[in-house]
Amino acid sequence: MTSPRRTFAIISHPDAGKTTLTEKLLYVGGAIHLAGEVKARGQNRRARSDWMKIEQQRGISVTSSVMTFEKDGVTYNLLDTPGHEDFSEDTYRTLTAVDSAVMVIDAARGIEAQTRKLFEVCRLRSVPIITFINKVDREGRSPFELLDEIADILALDVTPMNWPIGMGGEFEGIMDLKSNRISRPDGDSRTFQGRTDEAALSDRFAEEVELAQGGYADFDPEAYRHGDLTPVYFGSALKDFGPAELIAALADFAPSPRPQPAEPAPVAPENKEVTGFVFKVQANMDPQHRDRIAFMRLCSGTFKRGMKLTPTGHGKPIAVHSPILFFAQDREIADEAFPGDIIGIPNHGTLRVGDTLSERAEVRFTGLPNFAPEILRRVALKDPTKTKQLRKALDDMAEEGVTQVFYPEIGSNWIIGVVGQLQLDVLLSRLDAEYKVAAVLEPAPFDTARWIAGDAADLKDFADLNRASMARDRDNNPVFLAKSAWEVGYIADRYSKVRFLATRER
Ligand code: GDP
Repeated sequence: MTSPRRTFAIISHPDAGKTTLTEKLLYVGGAIHLAGEVKARGQNRRARSDWMKIEQQRGISVTSSVMTFEKDGVTYNLLDTPGHEDFSEDTYRTLTAVDSAVMVIDAARGIEAQTRKLFEVCRLRSVPIITFINKVDREGRSPFELLDEIADILALDVTPMNWPIGMGGEFEGIMDLKSNRISRPDGDSRTFQGRTDEAALSDRFAEEVELAQGGYADFDPEAYRHGDLTPVYFGSALKDFGPAELIAALADFAPSPRPQPAEPAPVAPENKEVTGFVFKVQANMDPQHRDRIAFMRLCSGTFKRGMKLTPTGHGKPIAVHSPILFFAQDREIADEAFPGDIIGIPNHGTLRVGDTLSERAEVRFTGLPNFAPEILRRVALKDPTKTKQLRKALDDMAEEGVTQVFYPEIGSNWIIGVVGQLQLDVLLSRLDAEYKVAAVLEPAPFDTARWIAGDAADLKDFADLNRASMARDRDNNPVFLAKSAWEVGYIADRYSKVRFLATRER
């Protein structure tokens, strides 16, 4: 028997405390495994390419990583999501690989833009959410107000599971609303756990707690797992109030690996056949070798090292001899993995985001989105003899999901699309560092892009009449390039038989 799995992500607005909470969860769980470090062991630390430098310079986290730990017989796979809004596309894809999420909210700020966007993605996929209201050791908004905000803005039922006894300067501890026990700060924040008591509360707080206990729906695990209700924990990641309770909540309530949407039918984890999908590809571990790691979420079966898996629809079977599991304490190459686990598969560009891998190549997982780019640029070479290298680089980066690339039907000006400005910097510095291609980005004559869908004959008619605006994406799908969102609406009205899609599911 394998231990239960909890595969989850933390979603938050930048600065809410995701990094701090992640560290504390790993501390409580007793292990830290960062995907970016996997290669470093037993070898000289290899040169890091430029986009990692960008990451350092800007102090933001560009790469996602997988962190696995085990506590009290439960295995937790925490998939990190980049917090910066420019990388939301990457984040969205990561959310397709989790079974639940922890939403971190700053007690002084409430729900912020990025939290809300990420929440919407979770809702699309019915990913259940545990809420953590962080930083109660500082002055924050009233807990009642914060709960109302979550309920109103996110249209969710809320159940407070614990209650802050004061905030900021008045902070006295956190009361568990079921047991009525209070955890109090006690000297060094790391040692507070020793003191828990049922001491009397001042009148003011006694009243608050009574309201908190009586004023909200009882916690209903089924409603939570359906994504209709969120249990809310107050705490302070920095002062170690809450991380242990969150881990317990994940163990007690969060879902085990769930069936995954696929064609011809959803795949249940109990299926014997090994199946999984790639939700992320990370290159540039070494600019000289162009090796990549494809991150695959295992959806069914017991994966064993050396197993042959075939990408559905393209390619030959791949023997996975050196899978990377982010689990083993000493980062040794893993021998086995179970549904819900993430496997890093080293490869040279054969595996792409959205690929399904399985033993028989008869299923295809659905629902990994590509988003319509919000920024389009024309790529111009400084040295025209480098066309081949440029094409290779653009295709590679499109495969990784760093940028999208569009090849217009007419002319040779390739166009790249991104959802955030920062991706443009990443693209240019990687072109230079990894592909030795000097390029500049120029304004494109287009502002946005839509994938088109419909009957083959209708698509052809449309494409023939709009050739100057037609392009192909990396997978040869037809794309309409528009000068503005207004033009998309205008054209969509005129060609009612063609559908214009802002996301494309792979
Ligand atoms: P992220 O951007 O969401 O990853 O946020 P970080 O974990 O980097 O935290 C942002 C800032 O908030 C840092 O200065 C943290 O030290 C601080 N911070 C995080 N958690 C707490 C907390 O519980 N209390 C207080 N007072 N500060 C916190």
